[in-house]
Amino acid sequence: METNTEHTVRGRREPAVPVPERTMKDVAIIGCGPGGLSAAIYTARAQLKTIVFGDYKKSNLYKSHIIANYLGFPEPVTGPFLAEKGVEHAKNFGSEIVPNEIVHLGVNDDGTFSLKDDSKKHYTAKTVIIATGQSYALSGIKNEKELTGKGVSYCVVCDGFFFRDKNVVVIGNGNYAGEEALQLLNYTKNITILSHGKEFSFSDEIKKDLEANNITLQKTPRIKEISGNGKAEKLILSDGGEIQTHGVFMAVGVAGATAFAKKLGLEMENNYIRVNHDGKTNIPGIFAAGDCTGSPAQMATSVGNGCNAALSAIKLLRGAKMYTQYN
Ligand SMILES: Cc1cc2nc3c(=O)[nH]c(=O)nc-3n(C[C@H](O)[C@H](O)[C@H](O)COP(=O)(O)OP(=O)(O)OC[C@H]3O[C@@H](n4cnc5c(N)ncnc54)[C@H](O)[C@@H]3O)c2cc1C
Repeated sequence: METNTEHTVRGRREPAVPVPERTMKDVAIIGCGPGGLSAAIYTARAQLKTIVFGDYKKSNLYKSHIIANYLGFPEPVTGPFLAEKGVEHAKNFGSEIVPNEIVHLGVNDDGTFSLKDDSKKHYTAKTVIIATGQSYALSGIKNEKELTGKGVSYCVVCDGFFFRDKNVVVIGNGNYAGEEALQLLNYTKNITILSHGKEFSFSDEIKKDLEANNITLQKTPRIKEISGNGKAEKLILSDGGEIQTHGVFMAVGVAGATAFAKKLGLEMENNYIRVNHDGKTNIPGIFAAGDCTGSPAQMATSVGNGCNAALSAIKLLRGAKMYTQYN
């Protein structure tokens, strides 16, 4: 694989752990909706070792009651029907589908990529296609944007170092928040996860690790505001309560496009991953497709984007000038 040493990644590069070729994936696809599954059909059919992460039942496609504008289906079909057929189709060509959430994506020293899922399994891949759907990473908490970089961060790997031995909070209720809190242990022991008006929901593995490391879980109502004198110093809750802190790590929802982008230094535009026509991002080896790129949120465009991203990944890995396969 052509490795790239020129691009800058905001997150620290991780030492490459030697991975036997048989377990190294050619293409890791994050997202099991039309963008990710379409990409998987192409890469798996091109005989590339393809793994798709995500739960198709959490895709926007699955939430679509009726789809009446997708080519080849003159009678309206349901989103769940198309999603199930998409999974079957990708599997038929040999894609491995893992219905887990990716909580960490990093770049290794050798230009390959490391991924960790919510059951603590690690994977390595030569290329990554991000197809995580609409990105809703901003929490809407007052002053979140204004204090970003002034005590508010989206990336433990990038900024955890600045909070050594400090008292920090992670805002979020799921596996992604859990993983960020666990990564903070490299820097401090004073870590509290705030639920921000939701129920905590962690995989068994992450829950066990949080307990074993005495990370505090604090169920809070919605957090209304982050305030302080030019930097984050306290959180104001919707019931009037206050929580003092030295630092705030945002990890609301699942790790979506915005979270990955902020960690890796992927260029964004209006909160979407910036890609060219071929689905290439500014980081060689990382491609993106579907709603997370800001293309019109439609099944047809996501499928087309998935195809483009897959063809680009195939070209990168195979060095082919053009890839078409009509039989
Ligand atoms: C109610 C509704 C009706 C719609 N109707 C139509 C219609 O009639 N026609 C039409 O063309 N389009 C319609 N759409 C839009 C269409 O569903 C989307 O444009 C399309 O599903 C986008 O595909 P995608 O692959 O980009 O994202 P999604 O379908 O949202 O899939 C994203 C996938 O990424 C996964 N994921 C996210 N983060 C992670 C992570 N960290 N780790 C692992 N997996 C992750 C999710 O679980 C999901 O599987 C509708 C959407 C909705 C919500």
